[in-house]
Amino acid sequence: MKRMPLDPSEVKNIVSDLNKLARNLWWTWNHDAQEIFEQLSPRTWQNQYHNAVAVLREVSSWNDYELSIRLQNPAFVEKVKKVLDRFNNYMSTPNTWAATNAPELIKNPVAYFSAEFGFHESLPIAAGGLGMLAGDHTKSASDLGLGFVGITLFYRDGYFQQTINHENWQQEYYPELNPQNLAMEPVLKSNGDPLICDVTMMGHPVFFRVWKTMVGRSTLFLLDCNVEQNSPNLRNITARVYGGDTTTRIMQETILGIGGIRLLRTLGITPSVFHMNEGHSAFLVLELIREQVASGKSFEEGLKAAASQAVFTTHTPVPAGHDRFNEALMQYTLSTYASELKVPFSKIMELGKINPNDPNELFCMTVLALKGSRAANGVSELHGIVSRKMWNCLYPDKKEEEVPIGYITNGVHLSGWMKGDVADFYKSKFGSDWQEALNQPENWEKFLDEDFVSDEEIWALRYQLRRELIEFARRRLLAQGKSVARDNFVEFDHLLNPNALTIGFARRFATYKRAILIFERFDEIVKLVKDTKRPIQFIFAGKAHPRDDEGKRYIQNIIHRSKFSELNGHLVFLENYDVHIARQMVSGCDVWLNNPRRPLEASGTSGQKACISGCLNFSIMDGWWREGYDGTNGFAIGDDSNPEDIGEQDRQDSLNLFRTLTEQVIPEFFDRNAQGIPKLWIKRIRRNLATLPNKYNTNRMVKEYTQKYYLV
Ligand SMILES: *Cc1c(COP(=O)(O)O)cnc(C)c1O
Repeated sequence: MKRMPLDPSEVKNIVSDLNKLARNLWWTWNHDAQEIFEQLSPRTWQNQYHNAVAVLREVSSWNDYELSIRLQNPAFVEKVKKVLDRFNNYMSTPNTWAATNAPELIKNPVAYFSAEFGFHESLPIAAGGLGMLAGDHTKSASDLGLGFVGITLFYRDGYFQQTINHENWQQEYYPELNPQNLAMEPVLKSNGDPLICDVTMMGHPVFFRVWKTMVGRSTLFLLDCNVEQNSPNLRNITARVYGGDTTTRIMQETILGIGGIRLLRTLGITPSVFHMNEGHSAFLVLELIREQVASGKSFEEGLKAAASQAVFTTHTPVPAGHDRFNEALMQYTLSTYASELKVPFSKIMELGKINPNDPNELFCMTVLALKGSRAANGVSELHGIVSRKMWNCLYPDKKEEEVPIGYITNGVHLSGWMKGDVADFYKSKFGSDWQEALNQPENWEKFLDEDFVSDEEIWALRYQLRRELIEFARRRLLAQGKSVARDNFVEFDHLLNPNALTIGFARRFATYKRAILIFERFDEIVKLVKDTKRPIQFIFAGKAHPRDDEGKRYIQNIIHRSKFSELNGHLVFLENYDVHIARQMVSGCDVWLNNPRRPLEASGTSGQKACISGCLNFSIMDGWWREGYDGTNGFAIGDDSNPEDIGEQDRQDSLNLFRTLTEQVIPEFFDRNAQGIPKLWIKRIRRNLATLPNKYNTNRMVKEYTQKYYLV
């Protein structure tokens, strides 16, 4: 049948809708939308971190000529229209969870402040789990139809990119982000000029402009000091994620907390609650007090009013991990601003002190957040316990269990962490509404049923995902261009074994996560990887903080082993861990290794990403896993306790890790029936699917925040 060409006005509409689609991060968790952009320019897609905006710019030169012509392909345009329909329905449907359960939060949204947000590899403005959590929170808030505004900084140089030099030492570099090439647009005044706000710091106004990113129905504002109104040194305040020294840090946090409130007021947004994700944004409490004082209230009344509007999530289980500033730096940065609070500066310092009478105590952002909020929480049950103990000193008349810090265990945004094949798998089971279906807990239980999904199907998916990961790793290693396979490029295609039990470890290389723990029993591990009947192998990735030489030594240690030890070919390190590598690894690995020193992993989220694709957790009983593990749905290292002594803990954990690996993990994986199917292993995958993703997702988490903390 001959088709009529699209008429020019329809083409124009589709082009305009595609531009809207690309500039809303909704596509980052909708694979059919990603396919459209990939199809438009596969090479740009691959080279530009899978960035829809960059692809559209590539095919839109010459007044959208190429794009318009491409839309004359009937099969393609049909696909495009389908995606656009889904997107438009998603954006406009009034039937959301929040419409029924939290209508008051639609008009007066949640304002969620976080120093980092991780959404996608094309927008690298997160350093780690805290940011990923913020990003996933934002996506689920959108799915639930919650009124939700995120506030963060626009880091022009982002979080660093990692390469490894010839001494196997991590090098950092900071490619500049170009907002024009990203899913963001400038916030403008009605006359079309950029909106500029300011905060008084060091006695002078410091200016910032604002970018806006749409994340489904949620809006994110990014504050950016790189404006000509600022002197050159001030333009760099927001250059890097947690960049610079303590002075940069206090300035960033002033912009985030105080500037963030200023911005919301300027835009006429009246949030019903201010959520501080970690203490970095706690200066917002000062600004809320200042507003009250300006309207004639006393400082104390102002504090009360501020606290009644704010909630706080703490993430840090060690005292040293909390931001602290000395009085001189506080004075230097904030004294002019603080005069508007109409109390002596010492009163303000007291807000950040456990003991207000101690002149030497530093100003702690977490203390300010606790004093300036109506509710606070940790991010897992154990982390709640640890936090109550740690902050009991702030509530001396309360018993430890009465300290007002609760917990909500973290989760992940399910479809955002799936590869396309995994999404296709769920689609084949639940049809086109699969994303909705996965929010119904009873649907996950169906994976226990062999009539619903067969062992063979599960095993086929697992084989496909492992194969894809291995080929991804080979491509990456080739691109890393190092001597992993002794400089013989052909050999890259023989690195790693598609039949081996593949153990993944990817996370920040903070030393408490003990990346090298498993290699303490090096000779025994060598034997295991060389076992031709039951081979295992390792894929590692992760960045160390730029100033953490110990973490960099761990990376060096692992890369060195991957090149020069008997683990060569069975252990690889993928450079530049980011959301993309994370998604590949959590999908393709068979087990996800997590061995932090307990109780330092407040929650952890990468293991939650792994569950979704049937990768089994193999973890210390810390953070979320202490709640998730039920004896059948993955593997535990040790039990629900830990020795006080770190050396003793390391020794015990290494022993337990090795024991579980050799007595449970490896035997179960290689226990095959006559058809070659590992029945026990697949049973564990079924239990993993039935019990974990329905709980450890941000849909459940955001509902819990809404009901426990956002609604009063
Ligand atoms: C998920 C994720 C993290 C956090 O993982 P943890 O398990 O909490 O350590 C850090 N970085 C990236 C890129 C991630 O995707």
